[in-house]
Amino acid sequence: MKLADFIMFCVSDYGGQMRGKGFPAWELDKRLASGIGIAPTAMMITVFNDIVASPWGSRGEILMQADPATETAIDRGDEPSERFFICDLTELDGSPWDGCPRTWARRGLEALAAETGLILKSAFEHEFNYSGAEAIAGDGYLLDAMRVQGKFSHALLHALASCGIEPENYMPEYGSRQFEITCRPALGLAAADRAVKLREIARSIARAYGYRACFAPVMENGGVGNGVHLHYSLQTQDGTPVTYDASRPHNIGEAMGQFTAGVLRDLPSLVALTAASAVSYERMKPHRWSPTVTNLGLMDRESAIRICPISGLPGSDPAKSANFEYRCCDAAASPYMVLGAVVWAGLQGIRDKLPAPEPTTADPETLSSEERTRLGIRSLPHSLEAALENLENSARAQDWLGPVLMEAYRVHKQSELKVLEGLSPDERIARYVSVY
Ligand code: GLU
Ligand code: MG
Repeated sequence: MKLADFIMFCVSDYGGQMRGKGFPAWELDKRLASGIGIAPTAMMITVFNDIVASPWGSRGEILMQADPATETAIDRGDEPSERFFICDLTELDGSPWDGCPRTWARRGLEALAAETGLILKSAFEHEFNYSGAEAIAGDGYLLDAMRVQGKFSHALLHALASCGIEPENYMPEYGSRQFEITCRPALGLAAADRAVKLREIARSIARAYGYRACFAPVMENGGVGNGVHLHYSLQTQDGTPVTYDASRPHNIGEAMGQFTAGVLRDLPSLVALTAASAVSYERMKPHRWSPTVTNLGLMDRESAIRICPISGLPGSDPAKSANFEYRCCDAAASPYMVLGAVVWAGLQGIRDKLPAPEPTTADPETLSSEERTRLGIRSLPHSLEAALENLENSARAQDWLGPVLMEAYRVHKQSELKVLEGLSPDERIARYVSVY
């Protein structure tokens, strides 16, 4: 039996899911020129597939316009290779649609470049659960944990590399059948494109073996979280890094300090965009190597933003390797919403010339309330409901998102919460495990 080559045009939606429409490969040139029409309400499909409410109902049309640079072809061995493009959403005349997450992130990056001359360099680090061979006892970081999963790691690393993702580290994480993959940083929007592709490539390779790569924020009540961490640094247009400055307190470059202060200032609302599911807040609990307060921590994996270690080995260059890690994130969020949130808030911190945050070196749980106040540290919201309320009440967030994206995102997330009403904590987690 002969098989046709098949391509999907996809959008990373408000739930971080890749949804779109497909066509036979011989239609590609036509589709690249014309885009593919879709109802705006398609963006209101919750992660559980219900459309509870939509600002547009059955009306209107927007276009999925593929970015040719995002073409992805996943080598799946004897299976047909999987091909997709990532799209921007536009109006029918090709002008940007204000509800498009990718456009929102791009606009933030463009504003950063125009106003400050700076470029964000970043990399998304992912944890996920692979449902392959049965878990073995005591498998955290264990060589045998890699071995029992057979060819999966090999196929995954090959597929990532051949799609230009530049994988760096791959390891069995602390959780049962949990793995972590990191890739090299990229400039601007390309970092989020990589994250979108990485998730789909992992899912695709897992499916090729008859299993699942699951990116749910938690797999079970009280279990280890699947985090997504965004490593970021700033550089000038000519590539000079400005993250590290040995002449300033804690070696934090001026713009990096202002940028990071901006992100921390608005974190209680921004988490609605980056820890975007109801169960994301099960992950962000004390002493789970994930954040609970709005702190910048020096090499502390329980901080909201971590100052990553700098090698002191001969030949290493701190200016080149210095980066901070935004840890209030998981794969329920679209990478574009994450990048957009960090860039818009960081840019605002530079505009407002905020002082660099004072890094914490002790467990934030042990800080007195005076000390917290002095450092400007606040608790993160304990639920998506609370985070959304902060977002809606934030004049700055309203300004960055604009009315269309703000309303669409709000309605989408309220709908997601509505679907979960009446479910027990275990049932809620199970629902997310089944879809991510
Ligand atoms: N699994 C942790 C999380 O939920 C992160 C562990 C680590 O630091 O790698 O973010
Ligand atoms: Mg990890």
